[in-house]
Amino acid sequence: MTPGHADLWFLPLGGCGEIGMNMNLYGHDGQWLMVDCGVTFAQPGAVEPHVQMADPSFIEAQQENLSGLLITHAHEDHIGAVAHLWSQLRCPVYLTEFSAAILRRKLAEHDLLDQVPLHIVAPGGHLQLGGFDIQWLNLTHSTPQSQALLIQTQAGSILHTGDWKIDLDPVVGPPIIRADFAALAEEGVLAMVCDSTNALNPGHSISEGDLFEGLKTLAADAPGRVVVGCFGSNIARLHTLVSVAAETGRYAGVLGRSLNNYLQAARQARLWDKKLSVIDASHLGYLPAEEVLAIATGSQGESGAALSRLAADTHPDLSLQPGDTVILSARVIPGNEIALAALLDRLRNRGVHVVSDESLNFPIHASGHPCQDELADMYSWVKPKIAIPVHGEPQHMAANAQLAGRSGVPRSFTGENGDLFMLAPVPGMRRGFAGVGRLGYDRGRLTKI
Ligand SMILES: [Zn+2]
Ligand SMILES: [Zn+2]
Repeated sequence: MTPGHADLWFLPLGGCGEIGMNMNLYGHDGQWLMVDCGVTFAQPGAVEPHVQMADPSFIEAQQENLSGLLITHAHEDHIGAVAHLWSQLRCPVYLTEFSAAILRRKLAEHDLLDQVPLHIVAPGGHLQLGGFDIQWLNLTHSTPQSQALLIQTQAGSILHTGDWKIDLDPVVGPPIIRADFAALAEEGVLAMVCDSTNALNPGHSISEGDLFEGLKTLAADAPGRVVVGCFGSNIARLHTLVSVAAETGRYAGVLGRSLNNYLQAARQARLWDKKLSVIDASHLGYLPAEEVLAIATGSQGESGAALSRLAADTHPDLSLQPGDTVILSARVIPGNEIALAALLDRLRNRGVHVVSDESLNFPIHASGHPCQDELADMYSWVKPKIAIPVHGEPQHMAANAQLAGRSGVPRSFTGENGDLFMLAPVPGMRRGFAGVGRLGYDRGRLTKI
């Protein structure tokens, strides 16, 4: 079954009813668009392959109707499967410069760099793909150049939010602009497909710009070396931490492959302030303790990552001593609590002082997803006729749908991967429309799970 000229369809193959491995399809007039193509990770100790993604069989079977793949931002759950699945999709890929810098490295690892047509779209840019007219919209999230997509067709318009928050001081990149989204309401938005990650959390997320003072206080008061664990993809947080180092008489260095990759991508996309200097990590070990501020991967307790090697004192560039401080500027992802607690115990046993968010009365971490007040704001700006919560477990999506109703959105549809959301000509759903499943990636091979 293919969408006709009067049809406008949304079909999630991954990321609906779960957080991770996003893969969305939009169908109109015989064509499909894919939005995002990400991975998810098995919990530590699981028997399945660690890297998993949605099975694209549904669209692979009609590859000739797939007009393109659009990437909203460079997080693994949105971009991580492109290199694994591109040979099944074989379509052009549209993305911002920062996302492209991240993707090129992955494609090179798969020997695909020369094969995949990458098209750079300027943030806030415009794109015409067959019957789809796509307006890219700047918003704020925890990685740079994150975009929402207004997908316009003859049958109606859909706002695909991607991941977002309302941040008026995002440190890197422009703040979110209310008028950009309020203007959509005037044109008329049929459906809004929206991030549900924090829909159970009341209030408003913390701004990236509000983290500097607290992190600076901690670094200034720490007697020895300071190591901060955070997600490598958060360039704003890196920016803040390198600024903190400069203001507290420390040299900043970066430990861990993913942090280095993201920092390099930020430089390539001209998002890194050249005045913020990061020294070579191999120099950190030669500095006096009170002059060190290292930024490290592994804030989820991942074995083999920089923090875990520091805890085991096997890191080639830095050795922690009693009296040094490790600060966690990250939230623990559900499922990683035990691994993280074990890591922190190992650090404490070495006499390292461990600081995390809950022991403080000021913030040192900010989520990249909208809490309830932000969802209500966005619904009131865009005024869609239909809300479609995605990017959440069922309880997050139900909370998002409820909030949409309270914010004046007349209808909401909640479903799961494989359900067809028929938005035009007559709104309705067909459950279990497409076959869905997962593929696992292990040692160069994809297998059905
Ligand atoms: Zn995401
Ligand atoms: Zn994200």
